[in-house]
This record gives sequence, structure tokens and C-alpha cells, in this order.
Amino acid sequence: MNYMDRFRLTGRTALVTGGARGIGLATCEALAEAGARVILTDRNGETAETSAATLRGKGHDVVADQLEVTSSAAVETLAGKYSYVDVLVNNAGIARSNVPAETMSDDVWRSVIDINLNGLFWCCRSFSKQMLERKAGSIVNIGSMSGFIVNRPQEQAQYNASKAAVHQLTRSLAAEWAPRGVRVNAVAPTYIETEMNAYVYDDPELMRHWVGGTPQGRMGRPDEVAAVVLFLASEAASLMTGSIVLADGGYTCW
Ligand code: NDP
Repeated sequence: MNYMDRFRLTGRTALVTGGARGIGLATCEALAEAGARVILTDRNGETAETSAATLRGKGHDVVADQLEVTSSAAVETLAGKYSYVDVLVNNAGIARSNVPAETMSDDVWRSVIDINLNGLFWCCRSFSKQMLERKAGSIVNIGSMSGFIVNRPQEQAQYNASKAAVHQLTRSLAAEWAPRGVRVNAVAPTYIETEMNAYVYDDPELMRHWVGGTPQGRMGRPDEVAAVVLFLASEAASLMTGSIVLADGGYTCW
């Protein structure tokens, strides 16, 4: 296989969670451009369909479906419906910022862990079965540099803990499934320009921390994360499993 062919996903099917906007939507576009048939899922079926229609308008092979990742039953049902998924991208996630740990409600803790960690595991568990049977498949989890460092000055212990757990879960599943042909990797992005961070643009102090604290002097874009996901999903990364790839503009160097 020549080098550029290794990046192509022609004939493959990829499923993305939380794909209606932000990093998830950019990832759907990247995978579709590489030739994959993409199943764009999100917890809101209508926004999933609107985003899928936009990508179809660009000539891509994209279908939409509704998936709330915190429901292990719903995840299992969807894995039965789409029984030939080659690439799974676990992107759905939320953040709750500026929540001091000592006064954090049960609900804030549980909601973040339930989506970022439990939901991601339900998807890995359900979609791995068909991959393990075929002895082929690639799972890419969206972690965060917050899984390595405590980002400043937000107080979000639940988010940092959830992403650190995603990284170690990625490595655990990679070790279990590598002998059976399934690769599991993660991307750990810096601050990305998405709706998740919309609250920061009006906060000059926080922007100073984020941008000034990054050697590249800027936030990242969703397409820059999607490009790393595409690489990990593809055969170009055939030797990689259990890798947590930082895409952080150098933030964790300082
Ligand atoms: P956005 O908030 O822009 O998009 C997240 C998408 O996931 C939304 O469409 C959202 O739906 C969906 N979603 C949320 N909860 C669920 C759920 N329970 N089931 C299914 N879908 C759900 O986020 P980003 O694109 O910024 O983030 C994507 C991933 O990247 C997350 O895992 C995040 O933690 C991670 N990340 C983001 C960074 C950043 O700076 N933005 C940095 C590092 C990592 P709805 O519209 O209904 O909310």
C-alpha cells in the first residue's frame, strides 16, 4: 500500500458520537472526505440530521441517527442496527467550569462522569464486539490535555478526572484488544474554538491565560483535532494503539 492510500477510508464505515457540531462535526467531515460512509450521531436527532444534511450537500456519504451515550441500552441497540462499523469516534462530552470542588453538587459530578466516561465506555463495549469478531477496527476517543494537567484558572475537577480516566481506559482497552486486531487511541486537545468554550471569549483574563499560556499563541480549531482523529482512525496509524496524542499547540510544554 502506498503512503497516501493508508490515510484513505474508502469502503469503511465510521460512527461518531456528539457529531452535530464542534469537534464531532469536523471529524465527520474529515472521515467522509477520506472516503468513509459516516454515521453522524448526537443526542438530539434533529440537529444530527441538519448537520448530516449539510455534509451531504458537500457530496459526502453521511447518515444521521439519534444517540444519547449515557443510555447503555440505546448504545447497544444502535450497535445492533449498525453491525458493520470499522471506525468508532467517541467524541460526545461536556464540561462544567468554575465549580469549586468543595461545593460541587452531585449532579455536576455525575453528569460529567456519566457522559465523558460512562457513555464513552458503553460505546466501546457495544461496538467492540463486532470489531473483535472481525478482528479489525479502530476506536478513537476524544480525551483532553486536562487529562494530563490541571488547566488554569477554571475549577473543574470532574472534567479533569473524567479525561484522565478516558486516557487510562484507552490504554487498558488497547492492551486487551490489540491481540484481536482492534486499535484504541485517544486525542488530547488543547482549548478549541467550539461552543463548549463560548463563555470564554467575553473573559479577557481567561483568554490571557489560555492564549498567553500556549506557545503557539492561539486556541485550536475543530478541523485541527479532526485531522489527528483521521490519522489515528486510518491504516497510517497501524502501529499505534494505546497512544494518547496531544494536540495542544505546545501548552503542556510550559
Ligand atoms: P461541543 O459542546 O461544541 O459539542 C459537543 C456535542 O456533543 C454536542 O453536539 C452535544 O449535543 C453532544 N453531546 C453532549 N452530551 C451528549 C450525550 N450525552 N450524548 C450524545 N451527544 C452528546 O463540544 P466540543 O466539540 O468542544 O467537544 C467535543 C469533545 O472534545 C468533548 O469530549 C470535549 O470534552 C472534548 N474536548 C474539547 C475541547 C475544547 O476546548 N472544546 C478541548 C479538549 C477536549 P448538545 O448540542 O445537545 O449539547
